[in-house]
Amino acid sequence: MTLDNTRLRQIFQQEKKCGYTDKSVFGGLDLFLANWLGQATAQITQPARLKALRKICPVTFRYAALSPVEREKWTEALLSFVLLPEAPPAAPDKPALPPKKPRKTAGTAARATPPAPAAVDSPITTIKGIAGALAERFARLGVRTVRDLLYYFPSRHLDYSKLLRVSELTEGKDQTIMANVWEVRPTMPGGRRSTEATLGDESGNIRAVWFNNPYVARQMKAGDRIVVSGRVKVFAGRLVYESPEWEIADERELIHTGRLVPLYPLTSGLHQRSVRKLIKNVVEEWAGRLPEFMPAAMLERLRLLPLPEAISQAHFPVDYPLKERARVRLAFDELMLLQLGVMAKKRKWQTEQPGVPLRIDDKLLNRFTGSLPFTLTPAQKRVSGEIMADLQKPVAMSRLLQGEVGSGKTVVALEALLMAATNGFQGALMAPTEILAGQHFKSISRMLAVFGTAERQEDPTVTFTGITAKPLTVALLISDVKGAAKKVLKEKLSAGEIDIIIGTHALIEKEVWFARLGLAVIDEQHRFGVEQRSALRQKGFNPHMLVMTATPIPRTLALTLYGDLDLSVIDELPPGRQVIKTKWFSPAQRESAYRFLRKQVSEGHQGFIICPLVEESDSVQARAAVEEFARLSSQVYPDLRLALLHGRMPAAEKESVMKAFNLHETDILVSTAVVEVGIDVPNATVMMIESADRFGLSQLHQFRGRVGRGAAQSYCMLMTENPSDIAKLRLDIIETTQDGFKLADEDLKLRGPGEFFGTRQSGLPDLRMAKLSDTALLELARSESIKLIETDPGLKQPQNAALAKELVRVWGLKTGEWS
Ligand code: ADP
Ligand code: MG
Repeated sequence: MTLDNTRLRQIFQQEKKCGYTDKSVFGGLDLFLANWLGQATAQITQPARLKALRKICPVTFRYAALSPVEREKWTEALLSFVLLPEAPPAAPDKPALPPKKPRKTAGTAARATPPAPAAVDSPITTIKGIAGALAERFARLGVRTVRDLLYYFPSRHLDYSKLLRVSELTEGKDQTIMANVWEVRPTMPGGRRSTEATLGDESGNIRAVWFNNPYVARQMKAGDRIVVSGRVKVFAGRLVYESPEWEIADERELIHTGRLVPLYPLTSGLHQRSVRKLIKNVVEEWAGRLPEFMPAAMLERLRLLPLPEAISQAHFPVDYPLKERARVRLAFDELMLLQLGVMAKKRKWQTEQPGVPLRIDDKLLNRFTGSLPFTLTPAQKRVSGEIMADLQKPVAMSRLLQGEVGSGKTVVALEALLMAATNGFQGALMAPTEILAGQHFKSISRMLAVFGTAERQEDPTVTFTGITAKPLTVALLISDVKGAAKKVLKEKLSAGEIDIIIGTHALIEKEVWFARLGLAVIDEQHRFGVEQRSALRQKGFNPHMLVMTATPIPRTLALTLYGDLDLSVIDELPPGRQVIKTKWFSPAQRESAYRFLRKQVSEGHQGFIICPLVEESDSVQARAAVEEFARLSSQVYPDLRLALLHGRMPAAEKESVMKAFNLHETDILVSTAVVEVGIDVPNATVMMIESADRFGLSQLHQFRGRVGRGAAQSYCMLMTENPSDIAKLRLDIIETTQDGFKLADEDLKLRGPGEFFGTRQSGLPDLRMAKLSDTALLELARSESIKLIETDPGLKQPQNAALAKELVRVWGLKTGEWS
């Protein structure tokens, strides 16, 4: 043990001198011991040793309760334990916990012939006492096998670990005592059959009542010694336990009281107390039979708990430090399996499906960038280089491009699309909304019109000459393109007469065919599901893929979740971009915010008002926006020109609203959040966001990027309803930082990863213990995975065989998909 036990020994020397009177430390030895025990258990790696320590200091142990003679004996036991060196690390094939029955799959010997599915994968009906209706109820929780049950973790623990004397009890708190039952009897308060008991210790007595529960009277009797945990209330001026948890204090380990007690998320028909008892039994009998799949050397080096011990401590932790160590081990498993799986997937499709290498026409690229009204930023040049290097390889590109709003991703994507076209392939750019797709179509057409000559224009296609050898045709496909126009467009696309197509989900509809899709670009990729992204890929023969996002995802997280993608980051904005002054307003300051917006308008500028976030359907959002628009138009700004934009409007109407705003025919654009105003209006200088405390910081930052596009100073006003302290903290952060990555980090810390992706929709294995905000653990899992794959790419070495098998189990891969 690396723990410094000098102090412990000094204290007990002192204690000996004082004749074991518990006077050697302030506050008593129990307090000191509780602390020491926490650290000691957290540092011990060997289960056997842990068990030995627990025997000396059981959960219910209290030094103060011992006689001086007992204290002396106990002290000797503890000191000799402390002096004993920790045994050498367990051999890899030695079971981690002394299990009741031998483990079947551990050890290298078992690996020579692939073992049968582990016993823990048997249905839960294998467990004594689980059958029929009970099994069905567990199935409703997704628990079907013994393994499922072992991994069915409590949502939290009640801290009943501190033993008090009756005289120390206070009103209103969860507290635990060990007491004698003086008297127990059935009662009928208010006609309900209940149980009442009088309990006591050397310091005093207390009454306990179990309402609606006559059974307790049959389960305990006068003279029993029990442990009681629960809320203490005051009734008629006296303290009383109301329906507390209780159990007999005997040699057995406590389950419901006197410890950290697990609370499970349950469904109807399942009861906390019986499930707890059941899981305790199952953990004791089965945890030791879970095959350890992490290489022993890795566990040793990283000081991770053995799997059975981690499972056991996750359910019934000895103390908080061990509970955390259990979480760390189990979270590490999840992240490592995730990382390895994602890495394997990437290798698999890259090797199975060769991509088409493109020839890079540097001359054309130089001509193109030379025609732009600006020079590319160094970050844009670097990323463009990374993409071009990928496109030349006979392996399909799979790259995630991150860059803040306004960092200039579109022009970089256009370079890649041009390369697809010059090589005789088609390129597609898919955006999540019609407005964005329309905007891309326009800005790309604009850039190309300067580069070459816009020759023919039949809405929604434009043909350019003077760019590539053949005329280059760009088209827009959105759901608004209907009837004959749509038919023509689709025919042209399948005939290969369109080189670059820009669109929405309409691009992945069944009857859309590409002649030769060579590059698929997806903008705002987090707004699409995995299936949609792969649907676009399926439109070609393993095309190059570039997915873009303006939501900065911290690097480690991106690599963990999108480990199958290479990562490019445009980490600087074009020069001259201004800082958008951001301020949050309390409800009381609403009038002044409205005044400020009015002042900007009177100075000839324009503004946005983003409607409150309604977390319901599109149509509900739209209705709320219509109401808000009516209120603003009639009560707040009756004299100004307001316009409304929401997701339920027909595309043509959206278009004309945007056009009017562009031409400064309207002053204020009222919009829902769904519409994510993909608008570039330099004259707009102010944005007001309603119920800002309900948005993620990344999203607020994205909205904010819609102002400050011109020369004039721009502003963002964040309106709040009744912000919590945490919300205020977050709002303070966005006031002071313009760094999208930092804001993303904050989102992760405070709101979890839902901000970026639902792990559910991403098709990734469940993360139950891992917090994606725990970047240190993410880093660790990633670096360990890389190390492992570098030294043993196919996980063929014997010490990695169990891990390979676990990967196959978790990811549903076939054995052998590792090489
Ligand atoms: P985003 O990364 O948010 O998609 P865009 O590609 O829409 O950004 O670019 C935002 C604006 O910046 C566009 O008007 C674009 O023409 C302009 N832009 C792009 N790159 C540069 C640059 N290097 N210098 C100046 N302006 C640029
Ligand atoms: Mg963009």
